[in-house]
Amino acid sequence: MNILKRFSSKFSIVVLPVLFILALGTVSDAQEADRVYVNSNIYTVDEEFSKASAIAVKDGRFIYVGNDAGVQAYIGPLTFVSDLEGKTVIPGLHDAHLHIRFGERELYPRMPDIRPAIGEWASVERMQEVIKRCLATGEGMRPGPEPRWLVLGGWMSDVWDPPVFRKELIDAVAPNNPVYIRRYTHGSGANSKALELAGISRDTPDPEGGHIKKDKHGEPTGEFVERAPSQLTDLIPPLTPMTDYERSRNLVEGTQLAIARGLTTLHDASRTSYEEVQRRLKLYQVGLLRIRINEMVNENAAKKLGKPLNYKNKFFVQSVKSFLDGALGSRGAHFLEEYSDYPGFFGEPRQSEDKIAQTATELLKIGFNIRVHTIGDAANRIAINAFERALKETGKDGKDARFALEHCQVLSLDDIPRLAELGIVASMQPLHATEDMHFAESRLGPERMKGAYVWKKLLELGVVVATGTDYSVSPYNPFYTLHAAVTRQDRDNNPPGGWFPEQALSREEALRAATMAGAYVMHAEDILGSIEVGKLADFVVIPVDYMTIPAEDIWKIEPEMTVIGGEIVYTKQAQAQK
Ligand SMILES: [Zn+2]
Repeated sequence: MNILKRFSSKFSIVVLPVLFILALGTVSDAQEADRVYVNSNIYTVDEEFSKASAIAVKDGRFIYVGNDAGVQAYIGPLTFVSDLEGKTVIPGLHDAHLHIRFGERELYPRMPDIRPAIGEWASVERMQEVIKRCLATGEGMRPGPEPRWLVLGGWMSDVWDPPVFRKELIDAVAPNNPVYIRRYTHGSGANSKALELAGISRDTPDPEGGHIKKDKHGEPTGEFVERAPSQLTDLIPPLTPMTDYERSRNLVEGTQLAIARGLTTLHDASRTSYEEVQRRLKLYQVGLLRIRINEMVNENAAKKLGKPLNYKNKFFVQSVKSFLDGALGSRGAHFLEEYSDYPGFFGEPRQSEDKIAQTATELLKIGFNIRVHTIGDAANRIAINAFERALKETGKDGKDARFALEHCQVLSLDDIPRLAELGIVASMQPLHATEDMHFAESRLGPERMKGAYVWKKLLELGVVVATGTDYSVSPYNPFYTLHAAVTRQDRDNNPPGGWFPEQALSREEALRAATMAGAYVMHAEDILGSIEVGKLADFVVIPVDYMTIPAEDIWKIEPEMTVIGGEIVYTKQAQAQK
């Protein structure tokens, strides 16, 4: 250790050519590591959740995980040795469900969002200010004849008083221009001018897959649940399509933001098309993309590919995304019983059980796992039934299939054990609980809350629970997810004691859900998800001990270094010097 201490400095990479030959004799080529990290507090997230202090990496994989004395045997003349000065190392983090929009949102925004930041809600006043600003500056205004359309996003009315969207709130600042605003999740709203131009009145019937909210006098309020009427959306001039260069730039620069947050694998839940898969593949082939991605493609893309794709363990097309219902906030989720705060309304399924069962069967036969968006208990039940039928039909078991319920937000108590029995993965978003807590109980009522956001209950039954953010619904920061999973609180420590705290995860469980479980759902648990010999060397160096710092500080953790496949792809130091 003296030699190491003398030669290493903070995160510097030190070559120790002659000294170690003298000190250790020769190291065989097979054992000589490219890089060795010592003096660290490593949570390996292996089966025993064991700790280590040193790792050796060769050809992008871990060849040793253990202690500082043991790693000496892997240090040869050309090995870089880094002293991590007692800092903590965790496996590279997965986001098991997000939409890769960093470029479009954070870096090169195309549509104004009224939220002060993603994960924070806008007040009515804030919404009105943003609309006024856009009308004055032209930001977000669509091309076309006067009166021009303004399209923006990000409203969430449940924190307002009263908690309802009404067209008059926008009319007050935009009487002359049509304004269309997307909810932060499914659903949208419009002002009176937009309704007038689209000819939507008290007599307009609900569109397919959507619902026009009307007040007690039968007048449209301006809010649309799920799909808005096409006579309105057809009037909105589209944004100019992004060029190929813009798409590639957004992906390359945007994913670097994720890497800086400690993410090393992204599961893109965007029903990626075949063409987009080909474009992304090219970016990997020329070495421009460094993060690992598992695509959840659309059915056509999977069938056209014919089998799952794995490009150098970097780019995976293993999954297919499908939808069964909408969101809880917009009341698009599909329930067995009516909404507690909207009598007579159950939401609607987007597909039949037969259809999902057939698709799941076809895809499983060619090696893909289907991952279905399910929020309400009825939607979850349809998917579970369909998965059960697909397993029967193909003779495969849950471990072969790895079907997943994406969100898996509200389950009927009868269905909860079925996830364990059928080996279905619950792909959940802890941040949705701490964001939805403002309205979930009024939508669901006390009985249904027993099966809502039940990460712990599922884990205790042996279900694989993988966590993600659903960015850009919620922020993509994985430490926000770990914090919400452990505390069931928002980042202002509300509510005191946590929201249904009995469903909080331990720190170990939360870290497994953000690493190994993500690897499992993409059939990559043999190469990703933990720091173990033979696995790809993905890890994150953080300045504090995740397992022991106060829980309320977990969301504040900022990675100092991210490593993917042994390659240092981010250091805070280098970022600061830019
Ligand atoms: Zn999503």
